[in-house]
Amino acid sequence: MSDTPTTTSVQIPDAISVADLAKRLDLSATAVITELMKNGVMATINELIDFETAAIVGGELGFTIEHEAAETEARPNQPRGEGDDEQSGGKIQDRPPVVTIMGHVDHGKTSLLDAIRATHVAGGEAGGITQHIGAYQVTKNDRVITFLDTPGHEAFSAIRAHGARMTDVAIIVVAADDGVKPQTKEAAQHAKTANLPIIVAINKVDKPAADVNRTKQQLAEIDLTPDDWGGDVPCVEVSAKSTDGIDKLLDMILLVTDIAKPSARFDGPARGLVIESHVQTGRGSVVTLLIQEGTLSLGDYIIVGNTYGKVRSLEDYRGQKIKAATPSMPAVVLGLKELPDFGNWFEAVGTEKIARDWLAQKAKTNSVKSLMNVKSTSASDLQAAVADGKVKELMIILKTDVAGSLESITQSLKTVGNEEVRVHIVASGLGDISENDINTANASNAIILGFNVSINGSINQLAKRNGVDFKLYRIIYELLDDVRDWLNDLLPPEIIETEAARLKVLGIFKVTKDQIVTGGKVEDGKIVSGLSMHVMRAKKVIGETKLLSLQKAKAVVKQVVIGDECGLVISRFTEDELKVGDELVFYTTESRRRTL
Ligand code: GDP
Repeated sequence: MSDTPTTTSVQIPDAISVADLAKRLDLSATAVITELMKNGVMATINELIDFETAAIVGGELGFTIEHEAAETEARPNQPRGEGDDEQSGGKIQDRPPVVTIMGHVDHGKTSLLDAIRATHVAGGEAGGITQHIGAYQVTKNDRVITFLDTPGHEAFSAIRAHGARMTDVAIIVVAADDGVKPQTKEAAQHAKTANLPIIVAINKVDKPAADVNRTKQQLAEIDLTPDDWGGDVPCVEVSAKSTDGIDKLLDMILLVTDIAKPSARFDGPARGLVIESHVQTGRGSVVTLLIQEGTLSLGDYIIVGNTYGKVRSLEDYRGQKIKAATPSMPAVVLGLKELPDFGNWFEAVGTEKIARDWLAQKAKTNSVKSLMNVKSTSASDLQAAVADGKVKELMIILKTDVAGSLESITQSLKTVGNEEVRVHIVASGLGDISENDINTANASNAIILGFNVSINGSINQLAKRNGVDFKLYRIIYELLDDVRDWLNDLLPPEIIETEAARLKVLGIFKVTKDQIVTGGKVEDGKIVSGLSMHVMRAKKVIGETKLLSLQKAKAVVKQVVIGDECGLVISRFTEDELKVGDELVFYTTESRRRTL
């Protein structure tokens, strides 16, 4: 016989109202509400709480909570998953590749995008593109390529948030006169994490200082070994200025496309992403969508972000009216009720009613109360999880639902940090947070991060008893943002010293065990009480001390200014006495938070 007390097992769905949970646990709603409050979740009797939260409070109330099998109803506005195409029943066809350009600031992302547009947008229409809509298409060898025109950090965060779903090929621009820089590495890491094929564009080769060989050497050092050096990364030398090499770059994109073979369903309702949105006087919300599958037609109802609308007008990237848009096409849509955000998913639905019902449902789900939003990692938890060596390391145990997310989060965690602070993954694995994880965390002072996993009530109690901290996530970049934030907190602040005043010592009046009473003339600035100072002799710092009090004409004052003669009481600072002729340099300090 086991001596573990048996607990009642209760099944809970993804989200449950407080009243329903109380009923299933056979408790009063007040008991559930009180337990929720103890955990920082304020929910009323009719409000919904999510499974993780229900599992935790249920566990604390002495129940074993299990996950009720979810209904597999197709939910709109979800990222498309593998196999969706077959379910939708459409025929799969090749589609144009979608390309992003990333790289270090000033290495020429914008210039390259402009040069490609100027040279390859069909039939001289390039000049006709007056508005920036977030993407454009070019034709090369009768084949179409879509470029996302969101260089810089927006492209980074898009890749980070949507991974391979947004683009098919990443071009990393490196200026040949500057070489590999921090954002080059960051870009490479993002592309690798998202499993995107990479092409390096070695730009600015027209410059006299360009050094292609050195650049390739540096690329090899960051694991982007050029193909002509025995690696597998195609490198194309270009000049956005003279447009040399751009044809070759486009050929390379087509070659990579032949291997990656991007494809999509062309028939049926459209789905995709928002790549640009703004309000324009007289037109209302102007939204650029990147179609990822299906066909978007004039008059379709679409749901997107937290809004919906009827496609009143459809334009291509040149601003020309079109009737329909197919996969990989950027399309400008008018008619949405509100502005969606960059990166939001959209989906065409049959009728306005479906769109409205879906929004109502979504509003309901959005109001689900969750522990995930309240639980925050305290400064002391964080401090405990830091190993103080030459490099401060944040100890983390990582648990995820599937191997893919474990791999990609691990990779990303390895790249946050610098030579002062970084993440140390003590242990990682698949599945819910377990007793073993709590024990490991306890032994190593680590914080447990869970992605798409949960924790049951008894394990949560164990964590509490042992003072082990954990946090659960459903969105990868939120996890990464938190870790980056915590690492920023660990960076020692930058201390900025500003000189406030200088004084020449004219007399020493009295020296006691702790204090020196002295006097002098202010040569520069303004001295106020409480300032710190360097004591200088023959232009060298001989000691550090603090101003204790200040006198002028025998009266205690708060400040003296340039030209004033004054008396000062300062702390003793060395064995060495202060001498007439020494200089006191007063300063203020400011500590500034540093970020990675
Ligand atoms: P981004 O920050 O990566 O978008 O870089 P930009 O496209 O704004 O380019 C930064 C600077 O480099 C600008 O002054 C460009 O004119 C210059 N530049 C970009 N590409 C080239 C090139 O191929 N050759 C030369 N000589 N200058 C370039």
